[in-house]
Amino acid sequence: MICEKCKQDFPSQYYFKTDTVCIECFNKMSESEKQSALHRSLMKHPMTSTTFEIQGHRVVKQIGVVRGITVRSRSVFGTIGASLQTLFGGNITLLTELCEKTRGEAFDMMISHAEKLGANAVIGIRYDATEVMDGVTEVLCYGTAVVVERVN
Ligand SMILES: [Zn+2]
Repeated sequence: MICEKCKQDFPSQYYFKTDTVCIECFNKMSESEKQSALHRSLMKHPMTSTTFEIQGHRVVKQIGVVRGITVRSRSVFGTIGASLQTLFGGNITLLTELCEKTRGEAFDMMISHAEKLGANAVIGIRYDATEVMDGVTEVLCYGTAVVVERVN
């Protein structure tokens, strides 16, 4: 992997954090730069997979199940806005955004749980959502934390 900032090659264990910059450059970034780098790499994360393998890599260690949970209640304003949008039809963007954000948070939590356990990849990722009470939804993201190494 070539770092976008310093153009140096960086080792594979750092892919997990971000696949665009090396860990040294990452640590020097501002909070907002970090967020956008993380967001970009999570969206096309090479080290996460909904299947049980990651292309070009093999699992050398199974660590176990990791998960992230977020609980969301619909805000009154969001609900009113969404109701108005339902009247006009089309994609209910207010709810779509809320769902995306909630899933993203659960995903991030799962990733940091995996990192704490020393994993560099998560496989078999699933999402689960349950309405725990009226208007309150729990979003669960879980997968199997593993250590992978590159196969050439
Ligand atoms: Zn760098």
